[in-house]
Amino acid sequence: MENIERKTIVEVRGLSKQYGNFYALKDLDLSIKEGEIVGLVGKNGAGKTTLIRLIAGLIEPTSGTMSLFGENDKSKLTRMRGGIAAMVETPALYLNMNAHDNLMTRCILENMPKAGLEQYIKDRLEYVGLGDYYKSSKKVKDFSLGMRQRIGIAMALTGDPKLLILDEPTNGLDPEGIKQIRELLQKINKEQGATIIVSSHILSELGKFATSYVFLDQGEKIKEATEQELESNGGKIIKITAKDNKKACKALTDLKYEHVEKDDTIIISNVNNVAEAINKMAKAGIEFVSFKEESSDLEQFFVDLLEELQ
Ligand code: ATP
Repeated sequence: MENIERKTIVEVRGLSKQYGNFYALKDLDLSIKEGEIVGLVGKNGAGKTTLIRLIAGLIEPTSGTMSLFGENDKSKLTRMRGGIAAMVETPALYLNMNAHDNLMTRCILENMPKAGLEQYIKDRLEYVGLGDYYKSSKKVKDFSLGMRQRIGIAMALTGDPKLLILDEPTNGLDPEGIKQIRELLQKINKEQGATIIVSSHILSELGKFATSYVFLDQGEKIKEATEQELESNGGKIIKITAKDNKKACKALTDLKYEHVEKDDTIIISNVNNVAEAINKMAKAGIEFVSFKEESSDLEQFFVDLLEELQ
């Protein structure tokens, strides 16, 4: 399965977007394969929305190249973008209409054939978990944030996009709402074969559902990691204070343990076998004053990554 050559859906090389002298995105290389769920992660202002807008064709790059579905010719890119649906920040909804009419309007705009449209709308609402609202007169402006995201996704799915791009779809949702959106996106990826790009400034909101992650910071890609790579980075974190931190750091370097010293604590990351690590450290003469073990989740991974760069 893993050896099957998958098509490249998005390929960008040296992509930059400048506003005056300021780089919202700088010299980005990125390749996204068919069927992937790509988590775009970065703090506020990292450049996620800029990248999404560039891919969706909502803004033009200052420099760099982009190919979509294997095409990089400008005129063909426009046509290729027909296979992309983007939901940037909040979904564009008709707030004074109910769910049915929102979807119907979108279907008409997409020139979908009238025959079977009612059934399509009913099925689509059910698909995104809004089946109860097929006949409801409740206006979308009275929907919860999570329901709005779901109707937005249903609308984005009309026209069966091959690439679905969602900018912070879990922003402001409660844990249950976040889980529902995650599960819905996984279903869309599996059942419709759609490649998905989803951004978040809170890594844990993406959970471990993406198949690869792109970490952005101040407009630059600071790391790309597959799900597997992140998992192997998901080893334990040990935080220690030693009698002599300097000596301990030297010993840790010799033992080839990844570590950073912060204030009076040494943070050792990516430890697969804690018992073995303690043993080795003790043998190397490290005298512990305090010791704390933590599991390294995605959030921690990102924090560590940013610390490494400072
Ligand atoms: P957020 O999570 O806050 O949406 P983001 O990662 O999506 O952040 P972007 O919206 O891509 O970040 O913005 C990246 C940087 O580019 C920010 O510093 C932003 O202020 C700047 N920027 C974005 N659009 C413009 C614009 N039209 N003019 C000037 N600066 C802009």
